[in-house]
Amino acid sequence: MKVTALAGGTGSAKLLRGLKSLPIDLTVVANVGDNVWMYGAYVCPDVDVACYTLAGISDVERGWGVRGDTFYSLERLARLGLETWFKLGDMDLAVCLARTEMLRRGGSLTSATERIRRALGAPSPVLPATDHAVETRVETKKGDLHLQEFWVRDRGRPAVLRVRYRGAASSSPTEQVARAVSDADRVVVCPANPVTSVGPMLAVRGFASLLSSTRARVVALSPMSGRRPFSGPAGKLMKAAGRRPDSVGVAEMYAGFLDALLISKGDAGMKRDIERLGVECAVTDTLMSNPRDEARLARELLRA
Ligand code: GDP
Repeated sequence: MKVTALAGGTGSAKLLRGLKSLPIDLTVVANVGDNVWMYGAYVCPDVDVACYTLAGISDVERGWGVRGDTFYSLERLARLGLETWFKLGDMDLAVCLARTEMLRRGGSLTSATERIRRALGAPSPVLPATDHAVETRVETKKGDLHLQEFWVRDRGRPAVLRVRYRGAASSSPTEQVARAVSDADRVVVCPANPVTSVGPMLAVRGFASLLSSTRARVVALSPMSGRRPFSGPAGKLMKAAGRRPDSVGVAEMYAGFLDALLISKGDAGMKRDIERLGVECAVTDTLMSNPRDEARLARELLRA
């Protein structure tokens, strides 16, 4: 079975670990909206967390970076007077520097990612959603911020007015992404922030129509439990986007292409509202607190 997984950060990494444990032909399409220049290197957090997870070296519990990584470079950068609010371990920084060098020599983000994931030993391809620069900007009462400034530096505190995907209107999915979505037997939307992880992919011109026209069944695991996400700012950002911060809101945002949504048992009362949107809905235990949960949910998604 050919499975293409759309992935953001922390919640997606857990599900990717589950998908990786199954006998399937897996391809990951990763969000690029939170890519950022830091310390002279091009950092691609969601692309890297997918590569690290597939390679078995990610710190899945922490949600970012490499397990057991050291932070000597960051300590030195701080002593040299740089602001170091964006935590990047030594091994992580090396990956970002390698990518920067590959890009500087004219390579695409897709080809750089392919070289990196192979070098790390990740057994499945990881495809950036686009090779164009698409940047998630959060307009707040404190000003127009990069997503990382909003969430990591300012800890998600500023009041949000609007989220924009800078560069999306003139971007397109890569050929590899188009093929991965069109040729899949199943597309899985991993639990990810609908506004800042899935939103930037959907904003890439032509991406949403790839999803709505694929012959594959498109299924998703909701990142919400009740009126909150399991982690991160999804609720606050969904509200700012004028959506209900719950699984019905997620279904509304994905209704144009989604066949089925897995929601939490506590949200069984939302099933009818979701089905009214034309999305099938199944109720299950959606918390992933260990590899057993991750594999169980991966299997349930492939059957949904
Ligand atoms: P973030 O909002 O900046 O953290 O962006 P991500 O795309 O990394 O979002 C992770 C999403 O995964 C969040 O919306 C979480 O609610 C969700 N998530 C985290 N852990 C779990 C889990 O165990 N189960 C499910 N269903 N979702 C999860």
